Amino acid sequence: MTHLKQTELEQLASQLDRAYAALIVEVRQELAASDQEHFQDIAGRVHDQGEASVADMLADLGAAMIDRHIHEIRDIEAAKRRMQDGVYGVCVDCGADIDLARLNAYPTARRCIECQGVHEKQFAQTGHPSL
Ligand SMILES: [Zn+2]
Repeated sequence: MTHLKQTELEQLASQLDRAYAALIVEVRQELAASDQEHFQDIAGRVHDQGEASVADMLADLGAAMIDRHIHEIRDIEAAKRRMQDGVYGVCVDCGADIDLARLNAYPTARRCIECQGVHEKQFAQTGHPSL
């Protein structure tokens, strides 16, 4: 279970929400600026508190200009899900508590610093590791 206090969770949740909202605004602007009518249509349906996964919807589009945002949106959606499940701030690899300082810096972090180091070494050759 999460080691965080309710107030800490709320503060991190609003940090995630702000990052999410900013990303959605950016994605909507890029879709709306597209010369493809279909994308402009989608832009109107992307809401910041949608019930379905916005990332899934955007991934289906296959729009290259928003691909780079999808990873970030997915990370935030996953972090919010971990909060709902009560496992936010718990390392997915070793089950240790993730430091509050680390979470404040990277609210989407899913590993403790030790496991992140191992993970990055393992994936150093294959590309960018996720947090
Ligand atoms: Zn760990």
